[in-house]
Amino acid sequence: MKCPFCEHADSRVLDSRSGEGDQVIRRRRECGDCGRRFTTYERAAEAQVYVIKKDGRREPFDRRKITAGMTKACEKRSIGREVLEEAADRIARQAREELSDEVPASQIGAWVMDALRRIDDVAYVRFASVYKEFRDTDSFVKEVRSLAGNASAPRQRKRGEQVELFDAAPIIRRRKEQS
Ligand SMILES: [Zn+2]
Repeated sequence: MKCPFCEHADSRVLDSRSGEGDQVIRRRRECGDCGRRFTTYERAAEAQVYVIKKDGRREPFDRRKITAGMTKACEKRSIGREVLEEAADRIARQAREELSDEVPASQIGAWVMDALRRIDDVAYVRFASVYKEFRDTDSFVKEVRSLAGNASAPRQRKRGEQVELFDAAPIIRRRKEQS
């Protein structure tokens, strides 16, 4: 392994440990010339999965996009990085386990929604509001209420109460401004 600092061709492994459920080997190395230390990660090469977009475009599955989307939905929700990383791992695994090497983007979105629903209600609603492209306040509120588990037995709402649900109103307003 070439040293990233001086490009010397030889380095010595100081320490080796596995992580991420034994799917990764992390090696701490020391350059044989400049003596600086660096880390390498080894993981199995995975068969490339492609995502088919709504407009038919095909792009390589990118786990980072999943984490980025979830991170955005979880903004200011104090949800641990590792929780999102684990969820992204699970989704990447699901994508690989599909029988085809192509997965529709809508399927990935559904998996992300599913994961967020279990992690955090607010993050779920934020993601869903963008992903499902709710056309009107009604369908949005219906989704929020079904999430709260009271869709089948709607109770009498107090005036103005529904807009307080998970900050639904600001999300809808933002969406309107965008379009
Ligand atoms: Zn070096």
